[in-house]
Amino acid sequence: MAIDLDQIRKNYESFEDYKIEHLAKNEAGSLRPEVVPILKEEIRKRGLDSNLIIGIESQTKELTEAELNELKSKIAKLACPECGQHHTPLTGIIIREVKSIVVITQYKKTPVILCPTCAQKKRKDAMISTALLGWWGIPSGIFQTLHALISSLTDNKKRDIISDSILTQFAIINIGEIRTNWDKENELVDFVRHKNNTN
Ligand SMILES: [Zn+2]
Repeated sequence: MAIDLDQIRKNYESFEDYKIEHLAKNEAGSLRPEVVPILKEEIRKRGLDSNLIIGIESQTKELTEAELNELKSKIAKLACPECGQHHTPLTGIIIREVKSIVVITQYKKTPVILCPTCAQKKRKDAMISTALLGWWGIPSGIFQTLHALISSLTDNKKRDIISDSILTQFAIINIGEIRTNWDKENELVDFVRHKNNTN
């Protein structure tokens, strides 16, 4: 099916800057190839951050293993979004938390990226909160609380594998954002913090 490129150009012209930036960082990879130049042109015309073009290009070409490793190492070397330390590489961890409120039991598994010290603290806090607040929902609260606590301990034995898979997923999903802000450490740390809190 032919697409109306003129209409797309007009739509992009009517978007506010933040929407153009969002498209460039997050959706360039799913755009039709003939639409990508229209988006780039709109960025140039408005004088937006030229690194957005680099972010777009990173999403529209195939990701090599070397590039994936480069992205993962970039994330691991950022300052911890929780405590700001720079000495140990960041690690990915799954926070498992069960909360039962009256009859509803909620089991949340959240991947987060933090320094090892903050990661272990967050894991322990979640285990304590789960032990206190998880088992009230009967019967699923009890089962899910046990499941979360046991899994949290077994995760800890596989932490290198889990961390690698969380960093890999983060790098692939957020390649546009990472490439756009490659030289802006503060922006990247804020972004990791935002993702940790909203996942
Ligand atoms: Zn930390």
